[in-house]
Amino acid sequence: MGSEEVLKKIAGSSGDEFFSPVPEGYEKGKTKFIIIAGSVMSGVGKGIFASSLAKLLKYYGLNVAPIKIDGYLNQDAGTLNPFRHGEVFVLDDGLECDMDLGSYERFLMQPLSRENYLTAGMIFDKILKRERKGDYLGRDVQFIPHVTGEVKQALRKLAVKSKADVVLVEIGGTVGDFENAYVIEAMREMIYEEGKNNTCFINISYILEPPNLGEQKSKPAQLGIERLRGLGIQPDIMVCRSSNPIADKIKEKISVYSNVEVENVIGLHNTDTVYKAPFLLKDLKADERVVSLLNLNSKISNRMQKKELERWNKFVEKYTNIDEKVTIGIAGKYTGLNDSYASILKALEHAGTHNNLRIKIKYIETTAVEEGKLSEKEALEDVDGLIVPGGFGKRGAEGKIKCIRYARRKKIPFLGLCFGFQMAVIEFARVKAGMENADSTELEPEAQEPVIDILPEQKKIEGLGGNMRLGGQDVEIKRGTKSYELYGKENIRLRFRHRYEVNPKYISKLEESGIVFSGKHPKYNIMQVLELKDHPYFLATQAHPEFNSRPLEPEPLFNGFISAARNSRDKFV
Ligand code: GLN
Repeated sequence: MGSEEVLKKIAGSSGDEFFSPVPEGYEKGKTKFIIIAGSVMSGVGKGIFASSLAKLLKYYGLNVAPIKIDGYLNQDAGTLNPFRHGEVFVLDDGLECDMDLGSYERFLMQPLSRENYLTAGMIFDKILKRERKGDYLGRDVQFIPHVTGEVKQALRKLAVKSKADVVLVEIGGTVGDFENAYVIEAMREMIYEEGKNNTCFINISYILEPPNLGEQKSKPAQLGIERLRGLGIQPDIMVCRSSNPIADKIKEKISVYSNVEVENVIGLHNTDTVYKAPFLLKDLKADERVVSLLNLNSKISNRMQKKELERWNKFVEKYTNIDEKVTIGIAGKYTGLNDSYASILKALEHAGTHNNLRIKIKYIETTAVEEGKLSEKEALEDVDGLIVPGGFGKRGAEGKIKCIRYARRKKIPFLGLCFGFQMAVIEFARVKAGMENADSTELEPEAQEPVIDILPEQKKIEGLGGNMRLGGQDVEIKRGTKSYELYGKENIRLRFRHRYEVNPKYISKLEESGIVFSGKHPKYNIMQVLELKDHPYFLATQAHPEFNSRPLEPEPLFNGFISAARNSRDKFV
């Protein structure tokens, strides 16, 4: 039976070996699939390669839909510890996902949705629920065809929904990981069913260069290829990551070993900034190889790509030639790990580039400030601006409040994000609104003056029901405020991830004492942005504006903050 018949059979069947429902409206060959999987080891820049390739294809005028498949059993990233796993990224539709989706959104400058993310947890949840409903009609439910069918279904659904020319699948971890076995098998089936020229499998490998040998070694890469072939997959393109440019001899070896023509063996060495990766891929003709393998030549515009790359290059040049810097303090609990603040760091970098400033980060461990081991003065005297980011729980919270107080009094530019917004409200309430017992019920469940509280009835009216208020919400910006000056319009949309909020009972008292709530929900009494007058820059938001920042479009609150930080720095030099 040819692959065409298999596909037809899949569409109509429910009880045989081909159980793999195909979504309505799916047309084979309309969308091409690029599958990217690593062997040898993870952490070698698979995500950067994938998003750079996606960017080049997008610049050709192609509609590209990325999807990240993660092997863990969590149904989303909401419960993952940022210490261990990096930040939780939030999409506009409310999905809490891996930080890699943040990189895709930033690199592609395109919003994503829950169809762009798939975890083992999501797959198994669907299957187990379906089994309970009896939908498998008495059939035993198996990894093949049911679990693999579910994976394929997700890719095809994304193809239908996004109407993409190309779905770009990034498989987390590496080939050979226990938890990836059925995903790789699903990809093998996908390649078979979709057929040649409709799929392109890219294996990201790694070429070692042990310092004591001083030469590149391809053995681990060869073993990786062997593993892949053992699973029935013949790669179309081999990408060899390495510290230094790959020697021709190594490329040839990989070619012979993998049955991949040498022109499809791409050596990808390190660049000094990830922003340059698309140019490196372009020089290596990676995009052209993919376009040719997938027969996409008639759909692309070289002119458009050239124009877009020029625009991107302007940003990269600006970024590389920055010669001034500001120091930004980030006061939090997860200060040991850059990944836990990935989007904030990126948003600072975008705003910094826009203002021609390199950002130096000073992490401030707020538990140390709280316990008096580090004074606010020591923590903040050498920073040009302070960020208090999102956070959960009591530990370190009073340290954050102390830092905010110092920044307010010493007129250090301040930007509060989510938890940072809540802490700013508490600090203000205690000192300026005469509520010395002001607190959040998250920290003090019996608080006498719960200025920050959990308000389930608010969520109900918004239709969010669940535990957290997640995803994009409209925000109305008040005219005549600093926020309005920054956003330049009344209606904006920001992303949220919180349980607690400003207690409506205290809003007027806070406002009378001088807080300006410059951003509110257009319909409900939910305070979303605040600012203080008589301060060079004191703004905070219940939202996470960092998720909306893009290299060429810095987020306004960050932009204003960085520009204020520069002014503050210049005052003292
Ligand atoms: N812990 C706070 C809340 O749940 C803030 C959450 C956050 O900073 N993302 O409301």
